[in-house]
Amino acid sequence: MNYARPTSVAELMRVRAERPEWSLVAGGTDIMVPINFGRRRPTGLIDLSHVPELALHQFDGDAQTIGSGVTFGVIEREMRSIAPALAMAARTVGSPQIRATATIGGNLATSSPAGDAHPALVACRASVEVGSVRGIRTISIDDFFVSPGHSALEPDEVVLSVKVPVPVHTTQQFAKVGVRNAMVISVASLALAIDWTGRRVGVGLGSVGPTPLRAPEAERCLERLLWPEDATGRAGAESMTAADIEAFAGQVRAAAAPIDDVRGTANYRRHVVQVMAARCARRAIAEGMSQCR
Ligand SMILES: Cc1cc2nc3c(=O)[nH]c(=O)nc-3n(C[C@H](O)[C@H](O)[C@H](O)COP(=O)(O)OP(=O)(O)OC[C@H]3O[C@@H](n4cnc5c(N)ncnc54)[C@H](O)[C@@H]3O)c2cc1C
Repeated sequence: MNYARPTSVAELMRVRAERPEWSLVAGGTDIMVPINFGRRRPTGLIDLSHVPELALHQFDGDAQTIGSGVTFGVIEREMRSIAPALAMAARTVGSPQIRATATIGGNLATSSPAGDAHPALVACRASVEVGSVRGIRTISIDDFFVSPGHSALEPDEVVLSVKVPVPVHTTQQFAKVGVRNAMVISVASLALAIDWTGRRVGVGLGSVGPTPLRAPEAERCLERLLWPEDATGRAGAESMTAADIEAFAGQVRAAAAPIDDVRGTANYRRHVVQVMAARCARRAIAEGMSQCR
C-alpha cells in the first residue's frame, strides 16, 4: 500500500491535493477496522500523526481551539474545566487504549450519528476549521454533519481544528446510554451547556437521528424558565420546579428522530433522551447555582 507521512500542514494539503483518492489516517481506530477485515483497500494512506500543528490545543480567553489530531485522552485529562461536556464525552470513548490514539478530527470526519464528541460540540456551538490547497474555511457544527457517515468536507479537505466557545460562567453535562457501561457505542447520548453569562442554553443529541441533532425548542424552553422576562438574576433558576424540568425534558424528547435498530428501539431512545435531559438539567442548574453563591 502507498503511504505518505507529511510533517507540516502545508505539505499535508499538497499531498492531499495530489492524491485525493488516498485515505487520511489519524489514530486509525475507525479506518483500520474495515482495512483489517479486508472490507476496504485504499490505494494509499496519508498519515496525519506527524503533523505537529494538528496536535496543538490552546485557550485564548474566549474559546478553546483543539487541533484535529488531539486525542480523546488529552481532552479527557486536560479540558475538564474548560470544556466540561466534551471532556465528559471523551471519557466515555472506547477504552483507555482507544482514547490514547483516537482523535477528535477522526470522530468528526467519520460523521457517525453516534460519535461521542458530537453532542457536546453541538451544545457548545462549536465550529470546525477545514482546509485544502484552495484555502481554509470555517463550518458551523450545525452545518457539518450531512447524513450518516457524510460531512460537509469536500474530497480534498482536511479537518484542521475545532473551536469551542468558552463562556465566562458555564455549566455543562454529558450523558450516554449504551448496552453496557464501557467500550460501547451509544444507544443515545445528550449534552447540555448552560451559558449563565450570555443566558443561552445548548442541547446536542446523539444516536437519535441520521446526524447529531440540536434541540432548539428545548433550548428556548429552558432559557425562558431560567431567565423569565419578569424575573431578575437567579430568580428563574431558584423557582424552577420538577414540572419545569419535565417540560424541558419533554421538548428534548420531541426533538429526537430515532429509528429502531439492533442497539435499541426508537421508543426506548425517546425515553432515555427524556430521562437524560431531566438528569443533566438538574445537575447543570444545581452546579450553576452553587457556583453563584
Ligand atoms: C474498540 C473501539 C471502540 C470505540 N468506541 C468509541 C466510542 O465509545 N465513541 C466514539 O465516538 N467512537 C468510538 N470508536 C470509534 C473511533 O475510535 C472514533 O470515531 C475516533 O474518534 C476516530 O478517530 P481516529 O483518529 O482513530 O480516526 P481514523 O480511524 O484515523 O480516521 C477515521 C476517518 O476520518 C478520516 N480522518 C481522520 N482524520 C481526519 C482529518 N483531520 N480530516 C479529515 N478526515 C480525517 C479518515 O480518513 C477516516 O475516514 C471506537 C472504535 C473502536 C475500534
